[in-house]
Amino acid sequence: MLGGMQDFELRVPRLIDHAAREHWGREIVSRWADGSETRTTWAGIARDAKKLAQALERMGLKPGDRVATLGMNHSRHLVAWYGAIGMGGVIHTINPRLFDEQLVYIANHAEDRVLIYDKAFQPIVDRLRDQWTSIEQYIVFDGDGASSFEAVIAGEDGNYAWHEGPERDPCMLCYTSGTTGNPKGVLYTHRSTVIHALAEIQPAVFDLDTRAVALPVVPMFHAAAWGLPFAGAAAGIKFVYSAVNDPVVLCDLMNREKVTHSAGVPTVWLAMFQHMDATGAKPEHLQLVTIGGSAAPRAMIERLMKMGIRVNHAWGMTETSPIGTMGARSPDWDDLSFEQRVDQVCRQGRVPFGVELRVVDDEGVVQPRDGVSSGRLQIRGPWIIEQYFQDAGGAAVDADNWFDTGDVSVLHPDGTMQITDRAKDVIKSGGEWISSVDLENCAVGCAGVGEAAAIGVYHPKWDERPILLVVRKPGSEVTADEIQAHLSKHVAKWWLPDEIHFVESLPHTATGKLLKTAIRDQYKDFKLAAA
Ligand code: ADP
Repeated sequence: MLGGMQDFELRVPRLIDHAAREHWGREIVSRWADGSETRTTWAGIARDAKKLAQALERMGLKPGDRVATLGMNHSRHLVAWYGAIGMGGVIHTINPRLFDEQLVYIANHAEDRVLIYDKAFQPIVDRLRDQWTSIEQYIVFDGDGASSFEAVIAGEDGNYAWHEGPERDPCMLCYTSGTTGNPKGVLYTHRSTVIHALAEIQPAVFDLDTRAVALPVVPMFHAAAWGLPFAGAAAGIKFVYSAVNDPVVLCDLMNREKVTHSAGVPTVWLAMFQHMDATGAKPEHLQLVTIGGSAAPRAMIERLMKMGIRVNHAWGMTETSPIGTMGARSPDWDDLSFEQRVDQVCRQGRVPFGVELRVVDDEGVVQPRDGVSSGRLQIRGPWIIEQYFQDAGGAAVDADNWFDTGDVSVLHPDGTMQITDRAKDVIKSGGEWISSVDLENCAVGCAGVGEAAAIGVYHPKWDERPILLVVRKPGSEVTADEIQAHLSKHVAKWWLPDEIHFVESLPHTATGKLLKTAIRDQYKDFKLAAA
């Protein structure tokens, strides 16, 4: 047949080219660990990325080679992404909060050849350098002297044409943080990354256009900073980056730079609320806050919405690039009461075009979208994992490309998805399931409760019964009876924890989630007083 369209490989450098060409003057602001601030633009990022690509080639890097980073959020980290990807390499963002053993495992498994790191992580480099077997070059993002990032790119002229190739080439490697086992590598392709970025700009997802000013609190080392560095270039937004996550710094930056969009895990907002309560300050210009990574508690959603901010509740995982679902508003949103709106946002949203969801029971039978039947959540689509990096075990999906997320969820008739738990965290009492997430979120809605973890402990009759570990808010003397009274207003009687224990702190993973495996380990021989 005569006629057709241009064959145009979906490669990541096209995103930065677009940003530099169409939004060249839009700013990228960085607040560094030492308190200093710098400003560059999309044109500056593109120029420096080309220089870095030249420098990496000069070091002998070849397409497909891995360039690792250990860095917080700042403009040079963004340059490193586009520079490494632009020369055909694979950017590998390492999470500096992992344990030494995992840091060694990950860099060696990835066979990283270059490591670019923040000075703040010098102790990690000093400690692990001898155990990293493949890293040849070390560059310091904010260092001085010959190995500093600025010195490395200063020697290049930036006259560089991006490496071209098929869109199915890899461009980025992220390891899961290992909440439930050994870290596994997820290898994104140019194609998956570009399609995901396009999906992210739409109003139902991050709602980005060039008027947006985003301060992503989600770190660039966690699940590709939720894809924002790519979607942000496509939309030409202004980025405000902070290398520290202190609420005082964040709130001040948000106000001075008139930040409209923010994204992060729920703990970010717990800290911000404490700052707001203590000082009366608040972020004045925020329009859209995206919360994901773990379930956003109702009280948090309510408070942000009362400030006039749109809250997007997102669900996803490293394996899903990471956007799976987002809190898109329903057609009848304008007619809903405040409470009904909060109810809707408490669910994890709906899928954007591109991905599909289904829920199956333990036998693999697909469950109806009736808002009641719960089971394992599965997902498929062009930005969902097929196989883990260097995993000889084969595909991570079934014959029809469904990836089993390990999450337990319910699909509602209106298309919204609701996570009820992680398969491994569900508390099984007398053959029935109790959602640890529901108990925890309900508990943090009780005045005086700072954080809560629900786990199942052995019970001779019921198999498992829930107990709740609670960290009180500073100065609070909330009692177990008060918490039980609060819970009983919201959950079925048989869900109420058999015991409530007060603890000083709870263990967290490198990405700030409750480390349930450690908590369960601690309580594995625990005997309930009444059992
Ligand atoms: P890890 O699996 O190492 O924790 P991820 O950061 O990829 O790494 O975490 C993905 C998991 O986080 C999901 O499978 C889910 O259990 C949880 N999660 C993410 N977003 C939400 C959310 N909005 N509500 C509840 N759980 C969530």
